[in-house]
Amino acid sequence: MNPSAFLALQDLDTALDVITHQRPRLPEVIAHQQAAAAVAELAAGLAEAQQRIDAAQAAIEASEHAAGELTKKRSRLEAQLKTVIAPREAEALMHEIDTINAHRSDLDDQELAALDEQAQGEAAAAALTAELPAREASLTAAQAQLAAAHATVDAEVASLREQREAVVAGLGAESTALYERVRKQFGGVGVARLEGSHCSGCHMDLSPRELDLVKAVPADTLAECPQCGRIIVR
Ligand SMILES: [Zn+2]
Repeated sequence: MNPSAFLALQDLDTALDVITHQRPRLPEVIAHQQAAAAVAELAAGLAEAQQRIDAAQAAIEASEHAAGELTKKRSRLEAQLKTVIAPREAEALMHEIDTINAHRSDLDDQELAALDEQAQGEAAAAALTAELPAREASLTAAQAQLAAAHATVDAEVASLREQREAVVAGLGAESTALYERVRKQFGGVGVARLEGSHCSGCHMDLSPRELDLVKAVPADTLAECPQCGRIIVR
């Protein structure tokens, strides 16, 4: 048994645990998420502006179609008006023509409002489109920074794993199995350091008597923390 190899393995695993925890929380990950959200927000704004433009276009076409129908109807009535003799009939036709003209005027107002709405939608779309290249460039930069950060982390992980393999090879299968069992039992940290009278695993101070017990264990034998039961290395 080589207690210090247990500790070396624990230190490597702790470092790997820290990196694994940090990898999805790197500042570059957050910056990338923000840059992607900014592009998505712009795309949503553009889609909304396009919907406004399309709805206004549909309203313009509907107004124009209805106005066309009214014009046809008015032409028919005007032709009819030339052929009637009875004043009451002529009056009724003229009243109908007036109604059509009023309706047409309403349609013209609606079309003007729709044209205005369409122009506003186009202005909004143009403003968003102008902003798009800058946001896309930010996203591309954030992607590159994220890839670089991940590459650094991955290289570190690879190096730690390589060191781990070397320690495991030196420790042997039986000791490694014991180490793994204790690590699992204590939720990741199964091997602690004795720092003065303090256990780095449970952060408790050992009593002088407990300290003597730990120190009495031969150097090539594994000692246990009397407080938490972790392997404790002097
Ligand atoms: Zn302890």
